[in-house]
Amino acid sequence: AAKRQGRNQYCFFIPTMQESAQARLRLSNDLRLALAGQQFYLCYQPIVELATNTVRKAEALIRWQHPTRGLISPADFIPIAEETGLISSIGNWIFQEAAEQTSRWRQSIHEKFQISINKSPVQFRNERDSHRDWLDRLEALSLSGQSVVIEITEGLLLDANNSVAEQLLSFRDAGIQVSLDDFGTGYSSLSYLKKFDIDYLKIDQSFVRNLAIGSDDMALCEAIIVMAHKLGIKVIAEGIETSSQRELLTAAGCDFGQGYLFAKPLPAQEFERLFADCKI
Ligand code: C2E
Ligand code: MG
Ligand code: MG
Ligand code: MG
Repeated sequence: AAKRQGRNQYCFFIPTMQESAQARLRLSNDLRLALAGQQFYLCYQPIVELATNTVRKAEALIRWQHPTRGLISPADFIPIAEETGLISSIGNWIFQEAAEQTSRWRQSIHEKFQISINKSPVQFRNERDSHRDWLDRLEALSLSGQSVVIEITEGLLLDANNSVAEQLLSFRDAGIQVSLDDFGTGYSSLSYLKKFDIDYLKIDQSFVRNLAIGSDDMALCEAIIVMAHKLGIKVIAEGIETSSQRELLTAAGCDFGQGYLFAKPLPAQEFERLFADCKI
């Protein structure tokens, strides 16, 4: 059964066309002050092993508590952070915060607790050495690479230059796993599944939303799961909101699930309180 749901009310931020440019400018100015102003925090959403209802993984998701506008969605400010180059310092802050938390949870929750961290393709491309910073932070915390999964998107692999490929290799050499986020929504090319070592594939929530027996989405999910398993890749379904979706995906052999049915992304304390026993 789902435990108590978190509270994540975003403010209503949809600027009109005329407001849009101005609103973005304001937001980018505010974003510059947000790190120093300690306006960011991370939420953690459990990733559940479907066959056993075990929780030993979570995805870190950033939140921006704006001083006057309230909570702003990452969907609204990550693109601006990417355009302004702020994504590098924000990305490094996210990594530090998530790694410190994971280090504590490896002691208090489970020794094999693993954290999934989203890494922007812009940070990969802008900074040839962005992996160095993250690996240094791991080392400083004496945290093993196995505690971290990096979530990347299809677009990164599609036009990956040598530097991106090298950074991914360095992560893998350190024992860090790689997860392919939002699978099926990008300009899909399956050749990169062969070219890059991927550990997890996350089925995008758009395929899970209307899942039903005999539906096209069901056929796609089943095919993705079979293909991934043949390639030695584990599958995580995103956006599971109903027990019917959970049952269909479990029956199809999906390894892990994530979604509001289990829990919304939760502040660290709440996550710890609910999942101290590693069970949903
Ligand atoms: P994502 O990485 O695909 O994250 C999953 C999103 O789905 C999250 O939205 C999560 O709250 C939402 N979600 C989870 N379960 C359900 C469900 O059952 N139903 C529905 N409708 N949604 C669900 P969120 O936290 O708003 O993040 C949106 C996107 O912003 C993320 O998509 C990711 O692309 C980006 N993002 C969030 N945090 C970070 C971060 O720390 N770093 C970077 N680079 N990007 C981030
Ligand atoms: Mg993600
Ligand atoms: Mg996703
Ligand atoms: Mg997404």
